[in-house]
Amino acid sequence: MIIVLKPEATPEITEALLAQISERGLTPLHMPGVERVVLGALGDERVLAELNLESHPMVESVKPILAPYKLVSRELHPHDTIVKIGSLPIGGRAFGVIAGPCAVESYDQTSNTAQLVKEAGAAALRAGAYKPRTSPYGFQGHGPEGLKILKQVSEETGLPIVTEVMDTADVEIVAEHADALQIGARNMQNFALLRAVGKAGKPVLLKRGLSAKLEELLLAAEYLLAAGNEQVILCERGIRTFETATRNTLDLNAIPYIKQKTHLPVLVDPSHGTGVRDFVIPMSLAAAACGADGILVEVHENPPAALSDGAQSLYPEGFRALMTALAPVAQAVGRTLA
Ligand code: PEP
Ligand code: MN
Repeated sequence: MIIVLKPEATPEITEALLAQISERGLTPLHMPGVERVVLGALGDERVLAELNLESHPMVESVKPILAPYKLVSRELHPHDTIVKIGSLPIGGRAFGVIAGPCAVESYDQTSNTAQLVKEAGAAALRAGAYKPRTSPYGFQGHGPEGLKILKQVSEETGLPIVTEVMDTADVEIVAEHADALQIGARNMQNFALLRAVGKAGKPVLLKRGLSAKLEELLLAAEYLLAAGNEQVILCERGIRTFETATRNTLDLNAIPYIKQKTHLPVLVDPSHGTGVRDFVIPMSLAAAACGADGILVEVHENPPAALSDGAQSLYPEGFRALMTALAPVAQAVGRTLA
């Protein structure tokens, strides 16, 4: 529920209303604006109705938040949120390119790839130290050793790091080493992980589940915000459909939908979204054109030797071609490459 106070409402009245809201077991929100104070009350709809705030003399209007997600909703928070990964702002006029290998394989592979993506214009490095693999026999990542490599490469290149956390037990160590915590597609509805990452105090990159509806993605994001973390970036990474020609079907409808319904920034992952290297550049351009705030893209110094996702990883020259092609598309939609 959104409660707009009259301009003459004093701080004491605001305090009293917030107290009244929390006494009923609801979550109070205080959103002071330039002209008016706006309050929020989240919780059981029936208890909300009992508050009877419409009749309060200092309340101008009371509006229910219709969406099932509240903190994530644009109804509650009309302006775009900008989330910073290190010094990289995601969600403003800049279009952010986060690039790197699927996985941290070795210091040399991570460092070489980081250098080359940085020289080509990437603003942050991606790479997994913990890898969610379909087969238990696939490369599972180097875990804590991989995190150390990422930290070292970040210090050497100045690139902030985005890396996945798969287990609540690893949230602390990943948060110590990374600038943003990725929650992978397979964990989008791992509610214990969402709660733990929500409390980690680091920006989060939340990927859409393989068969998750957009409303489910936004409710997963609501867990993070409800746990106290407002620095959430969403990521469309392709979904399962009847189509098997590509690894996934990249649902670009998600971008304008998310922009309309929420204030959170949204990225596109054209690598997992297609699974096909040759489709990564065109779909990256499409992502920029349809309003995404950036891309998360896989690049490997030598894709045939990659321990995971080589077939969808760009070669160094492919990444340079992507950056060259992106600039005019971003500019055409009023963005600049970060
Ligand atoms: C990844 O980014 O390498 C990854 C595992 O992504 P997803 O969770 O989208 O499959
Ligand atoms: Mn991958």
